[in-house]
Amino acid sequence: MSKNASTQNKVIVVGAGVAGLCVASELLDNGFITTVIDRQSKPGPKSCSWWAGGMLAPFCESESAEPSVLKFGQFAATWWQEKTGLVRQNGSLVIANNRDHADLQRFAKLTQNHVSLNQQQVSALEPDLDGRFVRGLYYQSEAHLSPRDALNKLRENLLIRGAKFLTQQVDPQELGKQHLVIDCRGIKAKSSTKGLRGVKGEMLILRCPDINLQRPIRLLHPRIPLYIVPRGNNVYMIGATMIESGARKYATARSVMELLSAAYAVSPSFGEAEILEIGVDSRPAFSDNLPKVRHQGNVITANGLYRHGFLLAPTLAKMVTQYLVDEVEPEWFESSLSN
Ligand SMILES: Cc1cc2nc3c(=O)[nH]c(=O)nc-3n(C[C@H](O)[C@H](O)[C@H](O)COP(=O)(O)OP(=O)(O)OC[C@H]3O[C@@H](n4cnc5c(N)ncnc54)[C@H](O)[C@@H]3O)c2cc1C
Repeated sequence: MSKNASTQNKVIVVGAGVAGLCVASELLDNGFITTVIDRQSKPGPKSCSWWAGGMLAPFCESESAEPSVLKFGQFAATWWQEKTGLVRQNGSLVIANNRDHADLQRFAKLTQNHVSLNQQQVSALEPDLDGRFVRGLYYQSEAHLSPRDALNKLRENLLIRGAKFLTQQVDPQELGKQHLVIDCRGIKAKSSTKGLRGVKGEMLILRCPDINLQRPIRLLHPRIPLYIVPRGNNVYMIGATMIESGARKYATARSVMELLSAAYAVSPSFGEAEILEIGVDSRPAFSDNLPKVRHQGNVITANGLYRHGFLLAPTLAKMVTQYLVDEVEPEWFESSLSN
């Protein structure tokens, strides 16, 4: 970074999704004068973070993720609770239909920190599943939050602590000619960020007065794996597809039908649910599905949160801030920036 930019304690964060807000929070904690610029005036549907499930489930995710997701993800619930007070620590429940018992066994083998449940124990945890599932896995230490509430709360706290927010569409490279910039634009940085790709995710928000679930439920299924995240007041986020595509405008009829039919398999009560929203966005990801910190000139890029935005953004933010403070390259540091 240029001497001018680095010696001033001022930083501009471009992007106020989960990455940008977490980075801004850590910067403020470390005494940086922080300005956040986003094209939206407040958290909203133009950021991928708006559509997330909000599961803080490092053990479940470790079934298919790199080891560092488990290593760093375990710290997320505490961070979010400290910063927002909105974390619900009710664990996660993983279930499968009887014919998919082998999938549940496989999932158990690949993950840690769970207990196996029989039919009575599954029913005791979630009575509204009506005894339909004869086995389950319970990850008691896992948590969840409502992403939209958490983003709003974090932003509100940043304002109170002195961060400045501007509404503008900007080019981080241009800003970097005069300022120290952290580029947290998510998938919008694709054209200038080597190796960044989009993984399309579709989801629905349902209101279902007939069912009252306490914790995220994951249904293992060979074709349509599903999770259901309670948002309170009988509202549920159900998701999410994982499609190698940068498309982020429309959900397909097939995806919506599959998500709804999987929810119906968890409980026929979902058949009576009202569909409040159908959401879609493209998760920013690198080839190993791990985030990266890159540095060129006055611009540091923090991107690639993939399906682990709320789970890994606190660690990504700490890595960026630590790098600014002591210039030691963090675990997720990579050297090249542009295509
Ligand atoms: C359906 C779905 C379910 C998911 N579920 C989970 C989950 O349960 N748990 C979890 O941890 N993660 C989940 N994720 C992943 C998570 O949502 C993403 O990893 C995360 O949102 C990426 O955050 P980001 O801040 O990098 O990008 P974004 O949230 O997209 O933020 C980028 C911001 O930059 C702004 N911006 C872009 N260009 C400019 C510009 N030129 N000038 C100014 N501002 C700009 C945008 O307006 C936006 O606000 C899910 C994702 C999807 C799609």
